[in-house]
Parts: sequence; C-alpha cells; structure tokens
Amino acid sequence: MGDFDVIVVGGGLAGTAFAIKLAREGARVALIERTKAATQKVCGDFLSVEAQQLLTHLGVDIAELGATQIRTLRLVSGELRANAKLPFVASGLSRVTLDEALLAKAAAGGVEILRGEAATEIKAEAETASVRVGSKTLRSRWAGLATGKHNMRGWPRANGAMTAFKLQLTPTRNTAKELEGVVQLASYPGGYIGACNVDGGLTTICWLADQRLMRFLGPDWRTHLDHLSRRSSAIGGLLAGAQLVSSRPATVSGIPYGYMRRDVIAPNVFPLGDQLCVIPSFTGDGTSLALLSAIGAANTILRSGNAADFQEAFLKHVRRQFFYASAVDWTFQHTTTRRLAVRSVRVMPSLARLCARLTRARGVSELTEPEAAEAPKAQAQ
Ligand SMILES: Cc1cc2nc3c(=O)[nH]c(=O)nc-3n(C[C@H](O)[C@H](O)[C@H](O)COP(=O)(O)OP(=O)(O)OC[C@H]3O[C@@H](n4cnc5c(N)ncnc54)[C@H](O)[C@@H]3O)c2cc1C
Repeated sequence: MGDFDVIVVGGGLAGTAFAIKLAREGARVALIERTKAATQKVCGDFLSVEAQQLLTHLGVDIAELGATQIRTLRLVSGELRANAKLPFVASGLSRVTLDEALLAKAAAGGVEILRGEAATEIKAEAETASVRVGSKTLRSRWAGLATGKHNMRGWPRANGAMTAFKLQLTPTRNTAKELEGVVQLASYPGGYIGACNVDGGLTTICWLADQRLMRFLGPDWRTHLDHLSRRSSAIGGLLAGAQLVSSRPATVSGIPYGYMRRDVIAPNVFPLGDQLCVIPSFTGDGTSLALLSAIGAANTILRSGNAADFQEAFLKHVRRQFFYASAVDWTFQHTTTRRLAVRSVRVMPSLARLCARLTRARGVSELTEPEAAEAPKAQAQ
C-alpha cells in the first residue's frame, strides 16, 4: 500500500480534473504542481461548449469567474475578413483564473496539493507507482502524467515545429468593442494569431510561428508583433494603443500538433491532456480534450481498468476529430487555400460552422450526464 491511492504530476487542466474526479469517489489523491503561484499558460483562453460542460461537471462555475461569451468566429487573412456565427456559445476565460479555480476545487475536495516543486521521475512497478519530488519519493497505486507541454524525463513525446507566445492586453475601448463576442483568428505564412476578450476586461492574444518564421524574425517577441501588425490591419488595430499586462509573453516551443501517445508507460500510469494527445490549437479544443481524457482515465481506474485499454480507447475516440483538425490546419498553412477558405466562409458562413462542429470532442454529454444521454435511446427502444 502506498502513501496515496493516486498521485498526479501536473496541476493544469488535466491533472486537476483527474484529481477532483478521483477524490470525489473517495480516493486518497496527491497532486504535484511545480509552480508556486498562479502562472500564465500558453493558451488562447477560448472555451468551447464541451469544455464548459466538463467544467460544470467538475463543479467549476465559469460565469462566476467572469468568463465572457463568444458567439462569432472572425477569420482574417491579410485584409480579407469573414465572420461566421459559431454553432455554440463559447467563452473566454484566462488560464490563470481557470487553473487556480480548479486547484482550489481540488484542495476543497480533499486532494493533497504539493506546490512549488517539480516531480523529476515517475517509476512504475507491478502494483505501485513511485514519484520523485525533491528528496522525497511518494508511492501510490496509480499515477497520472499531466505535465502538459513539458516532458518528463524518461517519457518524451515527439518534438513539433511550432513556437507559441501568449500575452494579455488591456485593450483600448475600440478594440474591446471590436472583439466583443468574437474570437478572431488571423492567419499568415508560418502561423496564426488568436484573440478574444476574457475576464477582468482583458484581451488574450496567442500566436504561433513555424521554424521558418522563427528563423526570419528571431526570438524577440516585439519583432514578431511589429511584423504581424504590418501583415494585417486587423492585427495592427488590435495591438495599437493596448497596454501589455506582463513585461513578456509566456512561450513554449516544439509543440507536437497531431501527436498521440500510443506507447504505454505502465498499466498503472495514465498519460493525460497534452501528454496523451495534442490537437492543432486553432480548433480551441485542447481544453475539452485535456478534461475529457482526465475524466475518462479516472473512470477507467474506478472501473479497475488499466492505462493500456484507456489509451487505446481514447485515441480511437478522437481519431476522427484529429483527422478534420489536421485537414483544416493544412488548409490554413498554405496561402492559396487559406485565402480561398476565408473567401468561402464570407459567402458561406455555414462552412465555418461545419468545421467547428467536426473539430469538437465527441461523447461529452455521455460522460457528464450519462442518464440524459441514455434517455432518448431508451425511449426509442
Ligand atoms: C498556442 C496554443 C493555443 C491554445 N489555445 C487554446 C484555446 O484557446 N482553447 C483550448 O481549449 N485549448 C487551447 N490550447 C490547448 C490547451 O492549452 C492545452 O491542450 C491544455 O492546456 C492541456 O492541458 P494539460 O493539463 O495537459 O497541460 P497544462 O495546462 O499545460 O498543465 C500542465 C501543468 O503541469 C505542470 N508541470 C509541468 N511539469 C511538471 C513537473 N515536472 N512537476 C510538476 N508539475 C509540472 C505545469 O506547471 C502545468 O501547470 C492551445 C495550445 C497552444 C499551444
């Protein structure tokens, strides 16, 4: 018998969701989070309706946290713009706010939180997982690997080509109005920049650069913003006159879009969130997948299943979503198809709605409201 039933490494979306769900069922859970205090994460801060449902299931009320409502998708390429109504009401919520609320929920649910120290190793034996934190080794029956974009020694993921930056701005009144109820995705050769209004009257911007653009622009983020501002007045207008909330952006490189972890670490060690799979971020569905994988893994443990079965079933479940996400990603990587896509959405906004639907996580209602999902089937019989 270990110190805990479950230890989860990483206190982001997936780690906290896993911990909350298992502690709710009476498990003794420890969560290790390397940051001492609230930290900005590289994320566009867009929450799809599925992410909202999963957060409600975990007991987090995003309206209470000040989330904004987003109903429109605006696609931009140079001076071309197209607006399309989303097929759902999305939200904008800063990851600092969201992650801290999830950590507080986990603590209130009895999860023991070890904060400010990184786990350096996870080892698995037949019935035990050992996690090294500083000079201590903690033991448990099951472990979760939820370190997000940061790989744990011994359990690497494939390296990708993209570097991402995230900043928050206090927008001008005009910009705030321009983005009211809108998520704006402006693409350019080598990446895209997303923007939406979030809680606290702030605007989040998050942009990507591939290796070629990184070589061209160098690492200085100010050079990036100057360059992007010149590419489109929609980007320039967003940045003009806005005050930066922090002195520099949060960054991450080598993002492995499309990655799926098929190798099994051990039957009792569950990879979660970005450690399990990474969907192209313009879909705004990474949050749903992080939460869905965590809840799915927790349910697997509660049913006495193992990590191998969970990984196989989950990756099969998201295969179709990843296929469509990669196809849309490809479209936006090439100038001709990107401009064609924006033009097409201008005349046929339903195309954007279709893409938004095809790139959503499936099976959320079945997981969060199993009775409701069963009811129509039962009636049909
Ligand atoms: C550019 C970009 C934009 C995105 N925009 C969106 C969006 O708008 N909407 C959306 O739904 N998704 C978006 N995503 C995806 C989303 O951010 C991720 O899928 C999601 O954050 C994954 O959650 P996670 O819990 O796996 O990882 P994270 O949220 O990254 O959490 C990992 C946690 O582990 C901790 N940690 C790391 N190493 C250790 C260690 N050794 N010991 C202890 N703790 C450790 C970290 O401090 C962190 O708190 C975006 C991704 C990118 C790259």
